[in-house]
Amino acid sequence: MTPAVPRLGGAHHAVAVIGGGQAGLSVSHGLRARGVDHVVIEAHRVGHEWRERRWDSFCLVTPNWQCRLPGHPYRGNDPDGFMVRDEVVRYLEEYVAAFRPPLVEGVSVTRLRRSASGVFELTTTAGEFTADQVVVATGPYHTPKLPRMAERLPAAVEQVHSSDYRNPDRLPDGAVLVVGTGQSGCQIAEDLHLAGRQVHLAVGSAPRVARFYRGRDCVAWLDDMGHYRKSIDDFDDADAVRLRVNHYVTGRDGGRDIDLRAFARDGMRLYGRLTGIEGPALEFADDLATNLDHADAVAEGIKDAIDAHIEAHGIEAPEEARYRPVWQPGEQPRTLDLAAAGITSVVWATGFTRDHRWIEIPAFDGRGYPMHWRGVSSVPGLYFLGLPWQFTWGSGRLEAVGRDAEFLAGHIDASRRLADVCGTLTGAPSELASALPIG
Ligand SMILES: Cc1cc2nc3c(=O)[nH]c(=O)nc-3n(C[C@H](O)[C@H](O)[C@H](O)COP(=O)(O)OP(=O)(O)OC[C@H]3O[C@@H](n4cnc5c(N)ncnc54)[C@H](O)[C@@H]3O)c2cc1C
Repeated sequence: MTPAVPRLGGAHHAVAVIGGGQAGLSVSHGLRARGVDHVVIEAHRVGHEWRERRWDSFCLVTPNWQCRLPGHPYRGNDPDGFMVRDEVVRYLEEYVAAFRPPLVEGVSVTRLRRSASGVFELTTTAGEFTADQVVVATGPYHTPKLPRMAERLPAAVEQVHSSDYRNPDRLPDGAVLVVGTGQSGCQIAEDLHLAGRQVHLAVGSAPRVARFYRGRDCVAWLDDMGHYRKSIDDFDDADAVRLRVNHYVTGRDGGRDIDLRAFARDGMRLYGRLTGIEGPALEFADDLATNLDHADAVAEGIKDAIDAHIEAHGIEAPEEARYRPVWQPGEQPRTLDLAAAGITSVVWATGFTRDHRWIEIPAFDGRGYPMHWRGVSSVPGLYFLGLPWQFTWGSGRLEAVGRDAEFLAGHIDASRRLADVCGTLTGAPSELASALPIG
């Protein structure tokens, strides 16, 4: 039987979870297990981000065994593989089918305020309601980030952000400039390259990691080495860690390295960072060699750490030759004439910005980043979930969002019980929370 859709307009809920992605669903699972009344509000449909903002050939870069949402670990027959886009959507849909969260789809929360008495007031596209506690699980990537210079591209050149890129056929015939070499930029450049398109790639400073080394996925080695259990508290500069760009690698076709030098050897044109657009000309920084060397050095440094781990633990693992660069940049052009290069489209793989302006509560620092520890904000009863490096590397991912969700669900339940005793939400009930099984 389909559960009734929870009421919103005029209702009061103990907890409102905003966002029905993997983060919102995970905390809902934990609240359900603790018998906490709540509602999950999703602006679109579950899986929206994966369904609508990823390209057609998209697949996870993280292995399937790292998909471990609470009560819903990956159970397929390819744990070392990488789910493609539609499989990720199905994984989330199956999660919903498995525990039937109190979910309302197609409703946006447009304003969140807190009354003088401490009750949260939510304005939605389906009316207003109140809640004692709120979890903001609206995702880590809100607004596509485009540099201002995008405005100066000639009108004839089609431009899309990586979140709107779908496949090579959707772009006009001709060469394509891809700007940015984070995970999205590298994978989209490869997608176009494999389709036979002439790709020009503005290479940034993102690091890379090898897919496999000494017989295993590097992610598996790093997992054994405790890398994914390391918390943000273990670093001196949390801000710097949170701003780090992810290493590029791909899960495509069973997983492989992304080697930009190999792409260049095979005809892709590489440049340094894009620094300007003047009339019909693009301008690049003189940092291509540095950026490629840096990416390789990081990848080789990770292999050094894996070697040390293997040696320290006496693990039997096949020897593997180290990477040798297959291409070196010569005298690189610092400018490129768009028309002469036949560039008809640009893909901006330049990331996203956060947008929490609809939250009218002073819970943010001067940069608009939520003030929180493990998602528990500075405002009693307000929580965040799914932020990159919220607590560990996997916080913004399928790997550890569930661990953070369990922590918050325990905390929320403890707060609720404490409020029953004290008559009001008091903030961080750390003593009570730590007594709960939320490790
Ligand atoms: C290109 C790319 C590749 C990635 N690859 C991987 C990978 O390989 N492995 C991995 O583990 N992770 C990966 N991630 C990171 C992460 O898993 C995803 O970003 C994931 O979508 C985050 O889940 P979430 O639930 O935190 O947020 P989202 O999936 O963004 O879900 C948030 C939901 O909130 C809804 N929402 C937003 N605002 C409101 C509002 N005001 N009212 C109501 N609803 C609202 C949205 O519609 C959305 O459905 C990748 C991310 C990107 C961008």
